[in-house]
Amino acid sequence: MNVTCRDEIKSLQPYKPGKPIADVQKEYGLSHVIKMASNENPLGSSPKAIEALKTAIDKLAIYPDGNATMLKEAIAKKLNIKAEQVLPSNGSDEMVDMISKAYVSHGDEVIMADITFPRYKATTIMMGGTPIVVPLKNWVHDLDAMLAAITPKTKIIWLCNPNNPTGTMFTENELIAFLDKVPDHILVVYDEAYREFVTREDYLHDSMKLLAKYENVLIMRTFAKMYGLAGIRVGYTMGHPDIITDINRIRCPFNVNELAQVAAIAALEDTDFVKECYEVNVAGKLYLYEALEAMGLTFEKSETNHIWIDATRNAQEVFIELQKKGVIIRPFMDTWIRVSIGTMEENKTFIETFKALLAQ
Ligand SMILES: *Cc1c(COP(=O)(O)O)cnc(C)c1O
Repeated sequence: MNVTCRDEIKSLQPYKPGKPIADVQKEYGLSHVIKMASNENPLGSSPKAIEALKTAIDKLAIYPDGNATMLKEAIAKKLNIKAEQVLPSNGSDEMVDMISKAYVSHGDEVIMADITFPRYKATTIMMGGTPIVVPLKNWVHDLDAMLAAITPKTKIIWLCNPNNPTGTMFTENELIAFLDKVPDHILVVYDEAYREFVTREDYLHDSMKLLAKYENVLIMRTFAKMYGLAGIRVGYTMGHPDIITDINRIRCPFNVNELAQVAAIAALEDTDFVKECYEVNVAGKLYLYEALEAMGLTFEKSETNHIWIDATRNAQEVFIELQKKGVIIRPFMDTWIRVSIGTMEENKTFIETFKALLAQ
């Protein structure tokens, strides 16, 4: 084979998604399999979004609005900002990719936590940048160490709050103190994919106030988690209009499809669904805390829809053994696994299956 790819991407591995439920059912001959691996919404999708999608089905022969004008305006209105400060994307995954494409060049340093959302690092490497990886401290972003990692080459700092996969958060005060010290030519991307699940009051619940104060901050959100629209791919980002313009330079013309635009506009108004999902998540979280404590296991208190657990055995083995019994979770390093909070029935099934495994 004489066709070669760019040197920059040779070290990158294709993303390995968890096995779909149907594959696991077939492989192990199971009739019932539950997936608690990808932080998906156990209650399905926003009913308002589904209703709106029915009306969009007739419009698929036509290209979507490439500027997603109605979606931008709906978001701007809801957040009390200007439409020119908003940019929807094909999931926030695509936004991570676009931000790196727009800003990272050879030799640039990009600061991020370890362990955190893996796309920050992959897209940095893709562009020839150097990831500067700062270990979490007690599973929380070590903002002081991230500040200390800034050099004249620093281009972007990625913050995931609350963090995936650890479910931990840093406070509003800590964030403000951090941003006050970051030079304003460095882009800070604040990924709040799990913001709607946060229960603590010292979290920055109204991140829009950052926009007025810090021109170098981008705020990233998604419809994939709380709104249950992971399958349709739609997220949105807020920031200074000049940054939005820069990202638009490299954006694919029709990056957010018609169905995604229609579903997102409807989902934004679905406060009933958000409330229900929040409550189910909190109840599930408290049940899991209690059950894990009773099992004598170590875990992190979660501000998201997933829990970071020390399984006390090799994570990969735990993953395989649970999968054989019809429970799909996500293994990370050493003995640490991430389990998405499900319906109460799913949570109970997970605990029973996990207990049986650890008793073996
Ligand atoms: C799930 C997730 C996203 C990606 O969401 P999509 O909109 O589905 O691409 C972004 N950031 C974090 C931290 C996530 O966990």
